Amino acid sequence: MTRRIAVVTGASKGIGFEICRQLAQQRINVVLSGRDSARGEKAAATLQREGLNVIFHRLDVTDPKQIRALADYMARSHDRCDILVNNAGILPDKRGASVLDVPVDTLRTTLETNFYGPLQISQALVPLMRRHAYGRIVNVSSGLGQLEGMGDGTPAYRASKAALNALTLMFAAATQDSGILVNSMCPGWVRTDMGGANAPRGVDKGADTAVWLATLPGDGPTGGFFRDRMPIPW
Ligand code: NAP
Repeated sequence: MTRRIAVVTGASKGIGFEICRQLAQQRINVVLSGRDSARGEKAAATLQREGLNVIFHRLDVTDPKQIRALADYMARSHDRCDILVNNAGILPDKRGASVLDVPVDTLRTTLETNFYGPLQISQALVPLMRRHAYGRIVNVSSGLGQLEGMGDGTPAYRASKAALNALTLMFAAATQDSGILVNSMCPGWVRTDMGGANAPRGVDKGADTAVWLATLPGDGPTGGFFRDRMPIPW
């Protein structure tokens, strides 16, 4: 059987990098994408040295031209895209930020990466998934985006992840019965540049549920939100 091919966004470091490693360890060809070519090439080379089938492709998720170019590359060079992990994310909220005075510009910037990015990449790649009646889309979300228990603090980030979760449900509905499964996941609090040094989890644990969702069998769930491979409330 043809090896599956996956695109992971924001994968030069952190959880995305580890998702690439774990997917490639399952004999999946991986397109490790990132906005900085030098760092992305270096990250891909690290995994190649581990004997893994990983190549780098530049993708700033806020640039529609680069999104189109990536979709064209997947169609031209591979004729398929089986897996998309929307991992790239930013958290520009200031420490102590509140919804009472968060600048709208912070929301706009955050949504560009955390919401419009995954929206446009999914739109660009779903047609390629439909071509082979197979697709897995994993949106790397956060417990901070849960409506249940929604609080104040990091308001732009929370809004962006809640919106991303809505996108998961919309794409799951739009791709019903097409062989495409679309899910959100929360990695937990993970030691990365975003999570900080005090986070209790390593990237291996943070990546696990995303990889599980990216490799679901055909009768697996769609339109769900998961942490540690278990459903969690929206
Ligand atoms: P990270 O180490 O800061 O990595 C974030 C990645 O996103 C980086 O590779 C970054 O690239 C990339 N990125 C940012 N803007 C981008 C853009 N416009 N285009 C392409 N790539 C872009 O953070 P992380 O902890 O691994 O986060 C990965 C995902 O997990 C995010 O969606 C985050 O919201 C989510 N998450 C993390 C935690 C946690 O505790 N760490 C908890 C819940 C959810 P550069 O290197 O170029 O900046």
